[in-house]
Amino acid sequence: MDDGLSPTQQALTRPRWQAELAAAITRPAELLAALGIAVDHPALDAEHLRSFPIRVPQSFVARMRRGDVRDPLFLQVWPQPAEGDEVPGYGVDAVGDLAKLKGGGLIHKYQGRALVIATGACAVNCRYCFRRHFPYGDALAARGQWRETLAQLDADHSIEEVILSGGDPLALADDKLRLFAEALETRPWIRRLRLHTRVPVVLPSRVDAQLLAWLAASRLQKVIVLHANHGNEIDADVAAACAALRSTGAQLLNQAVLLRQVNDTTDAQAELSERLLGAGVLPYYLHVLDQVAGAAHFDVSEEQAQTIMRALAARLPGYLVPRLVREIAGEPAKTPLPW
Ligand SMILES: *Cc1c(COP(=O)(O)O)cnc(C)c1O
Ligand code: SF4
Repeated sequence: MDDGLSPTQQALTRPRWQAELAAAITRPAELLAALGIAVDHPALDAEHLRSFPIRVPQSFVARMRRGDVRDPLFLQVWPQPAEGDEVPGYGVDAVGDLAKLKGGGLIHKYQGRALVIATGACAVNCRYCFRRHFPYGDALAARGQWRETLAQLDADHSIEEVILSGGDPLALADDKLRLFAEALETRPWIRRLRLHTRVPVVLPSRVDAQLLAWLAASRLQKVIVLHANHGNEIDADVAAACAALRSTGAQLLNQAVLLRQVNDTTDAQAELSERLLGAGVLPYYLHVLDQVAGAAHFDVSEEQAQTIMRALAARLPGYLVPRLVREIAGEPAKTPLPW
């Protein structure tokens, strides 16, 4: 990047969000110190930290309550010893993605839309992540300059919507994303570009002039599906980032995961929906946990999920009630759970 520039010059020309990403906390002790929590708190599972290290941007840490080990944002990023437990039914490919993975990082499971694993990188490592064991090295589209991805799309004109996912596509630089979007624009059968991203929530400075410029310039319909699980994640900076994204013509939705002790109450879900709406974002999916190894301690029973949904629907307007879904390998869509 930036050939011919010294490291200092590169640091000066680098977008602010990249510097913030590089300054993310990656050591458990550092996170505890930032929050004023004693270092001898719960034992850490070193084995799991090696395969899925902690990562959390400072701006997200700033939204956690100091000294509170039950803070709902802290719990999403803090490796509990229970991650090491082997729980029957919990595996490394909970949603059957590996079997469906094609060249160019393409996963085409549903009619008319295909998902592209654009990168393995994320701005935050969420402990419940269903892709925490994903072999990104084998799947990355970005490495092949998207050529293989585009070849797959050229071979199947039924795909009208391309979903950039990962990892997190907004961990990629704008030049890369813009080139890909431009390549999609030259293909008349492609109508929509969707981004599945948690970055505007955990690192709102990522929504900068460069990102907004290529989004606004694109002829594609844009749908941005954010990922926030708790109302406290949405502060004024995140709301401003959402407003800027909407100004490009993008439709903003949110998907959340139902997580034990994080958002498993009607109050927490109602607050999340209200805060999302305040930021111009509608709730889309509420996923029950994918059964991924190391995440069983986040599971909420289906009965409890249904109780929450019934109470939520009795309290909020219909457009603030997300669809409760489970991903079942082999099904033609996310499976709605009746409540
Ligand atoms: C979830 C998912 C989608 C998107 O599904 P929608 O119901 O349209 O949000 C697309 N492709 C794959 C592989 C998915 O897992
Ligand atoms: S941002 Fe999304 S893909 Fe990345 S670790 Fe969190 S849940 Fe997983």
